[in-house]
Amino acid sequence: MRRSDSWKELRKELVDRQLIARGIKDKKVLDAFLKVPRHEFVLPEYLDESYNDYPLPIGFGQTISQPYMIAYMMEALELQGGEKVLEIGTGSGYTTALLAEIAKEIYTVERIGPLLERARKILEELGYNNIYFKEGDGTLGWPEYAPYERIIVTASAPSVPTPLFEQLDEGGILLIPVASGFGDVLKRVKKIKGKMVEENLTYCAFVPLIGKYGFKEK
Ligand code: SAH
Repeated sequence: MRRSDSWKELRKELVDRQLIARGIKDKKVLDAFLKVPRHEFVLPEYLDESYNDYPLPIGFGQTISQPYMIAYMMEALELQGGEKVLEIGTGSGYTTALLAEIAKEIYTVERIGPLLERARKILEELGYNNIYFKEGDGTLGWPEYAPYERIIVTASAPSVPTPLFEQLDEGGILLIPVASGFGDVLKRVKKIKGKMVEENLTYCAFVPLIGKYGFKEK
């Protein structure tokens, strides 16, 4: 068997055992997970663990997110296909690729320059041409291209950063983990007639969001 066949089989197993078996139903989300090669985004020393359902280190104290949690967040984003999406916390670029499979344009912001450059290179090599990259403090959003129909933050914040809510389109959806006394709570925020409507969806664990409207750097 060629290695590319076995990666494909491992992706299928991940989708069947970790996503479908645990309730993920959105076909667009499942198809994206079947397609995006997570092994291209992990560090070489973790290659054999590429399709295991947990986060893995990517350097600089950061991680590539757990597949199930990303699938859960993407389903909760209710993507239809034509959206302009803002992603805060590019990290490895894995989530960016999954989003780029479904939405129209992804604007992604990462505060650690070398991580952003690594992600940019991988995503360009994989042929994505609907992703725009920015190095900087994502708690400030990316005002030049606002508003966004969807915003996803893959690091945990002390509270919902004001600029992100401001840059959310009317009727838009923002997904963000917020730190609580019991780990992080995944919040879904909708903008309805200009007002913030919040729901707590589940518990989760993410690295901290660091910035002006996030946590202070230690
Ligand atoms: N979804 C990514 C997860 C990366 S971990 C993946 O699957 O690879 C979260 C990322 O958020 C880290 O790379 C971290 O550097 C970044 N981050 C933390 N605070 C940030 C901020 N204020 N602006 C932009 N990125 C931030």
